[in-house]
Amino acid sequence: MSSVNAPAAEQNNIFSAESPAKGLVCRNCDATYDLIAQHACWQCFGPLEVDYDQARLAKVTREQIEAGPQNIWRYAPLLPVGVDPADRVSIDPGMTPLIDAKHLAKALGMRKLWVKDDSANPTHSFKDRVVSTAVSAAVKLGFDHFACASTGNLANSVAAHAARAGIPSTVFVPHDLEPGKIIQTAVYGGRLVAVEGSYDEVNRLCSELTETDAFESTAFVNVNIRPYYAEGSKTLGYEVAEQLGWRLPEQVVVPMASGELLTKVHKAFEESAEIGLTEPGEVRVFGAQSAGCSPIADAFSADTDVITPVKPTGIAKSLNIGDPAAGPYAIEACRSTGGGMAKVDDDEIREGIRLLASTTGVFAETAGGVVVATLRKLLESGRLDPEAETVVYNTGDGLKTLDAVSSLVGPTHTVKPSLKSAKEAGLLSG
Ligand SMILES: *Cc1c(COP(=O)(O)O)cnc(C)c1O
Ligand SMILES: [Zn+2]
Repeated sequence: MSSVNAPAAEQNNIFSAESPAKGLVCRNCDATYDLIAQHACWQCFGPLEVDYDQARLAKVTREQIEAGPQNIWRYAPLLPVGVDPADRVSIDPGMTPLIDAKHLAKALGMRKLWVKDDSANPTHSFKDRVVSTAVSAAVKLGFDHFACASTGNLANSVAAHAARAGIPSTVFVPHDLEPGKIIQTAVYGGRLVAVEGSYDEVNRLCSELTETDAFESTAFVNVNIRPYYAEGSKTLGYEVAEQLGWRLPEQVVVPMASGELLTKVHKAFEESAEIGLTEPGEVRVFGAQSAGCSPIADAFSADTDVITPVKPTGIAKSLNIGDPAAGPYAIEACRSTGGGMAKVDDDEIREGIRLLASTTGVFAETAGGVVVATLRKLLESGRLDPEAETVVYNTGDGLKTLDAVSSLVGPTHTVKPSLKSAKEAGLLSG
């Protein structure tokens, strides 16, 4: 289907002539690249991201999206890869519930609050979105082995995608992850490497491995093909806009590890308005971190965009990235929209998990506890408007981090199997 008359951008597009992606661009110095497996700029070492043909994006309509499948691929015309269904290497995540959180809103004194529950994805976290776009691009780029450096959820998702695609995988995780995340990765098969170090050390090891002959044909989804990985996060913005009836919310609260999800959700809202999928409007973006690992929130509070790396601690392990690559861009997104950031400690996180579960029926992992506790803190300090329509993102499932709350909850009563015992335990008195 390639034509000698096709414009240069299309000839360069190895994904598909229909793809709106025209190349990669450096977020720092605007240097441009073809659609290749490269994540850092050769000129300035800045991060690369996918650059789109704006005229193509502008042609995408609500009707076109609504006619698509009930998963992230309905947004394929806004993604670098996957316009042709044959190109999708995926476990088909997306279209997760947007829950009208009436009782949680009431408990917090808010007018309108929604919970975007991304624990409903196939491997129970939002990571299925980014892995689907990453591995779809990886196969097109000629890789035949999937890998990642993970704080837990990414490991689950890469191993599951590899299993579905029938492609080998090697997943690297810190050795002290939650047992639920280790088991959920191992069960999909593939190699699972527990590294005796922190996530940041795991990530560095993976960067070094990409340079070796043995891993030459391996796509490390969040390392050497990171630009394609990052784009999957945009679907969490488009999807909320669509589920609100093609409207933008006024405020969102997003958990941060590397800060990538937050910057891409912000980008998706901006883009939705720019290309006319929604009315114009600015969404105030708020970022949430745990006190055990808060390099982005701390830089925000100190009014700088220089991130000082930390050694992470605390129960919110999925967010434990001490040297967050997208930190400065997350700060920029929050500042430029009039949003903010806050951090919460482990007790507040546990309380956040319980509050969310007991008011919405959503059992979140620690990252969801971070978001709900941060929402509460931002409300109490007057930085988040209780009257404004707000969406909070739950990005992972509580069954993955049972230990976080196991000492706090359990049976409220224990009885013998008799009416007498039930009565004695107070169950019959109102
Ligand atoms: C990975 C992850 C995030 C955020 O990731 P970013 O690196 O900031 O894009 C949020 N929540 C959960 C549960 C995660 O696993
Ligand atoms: Zn650059």
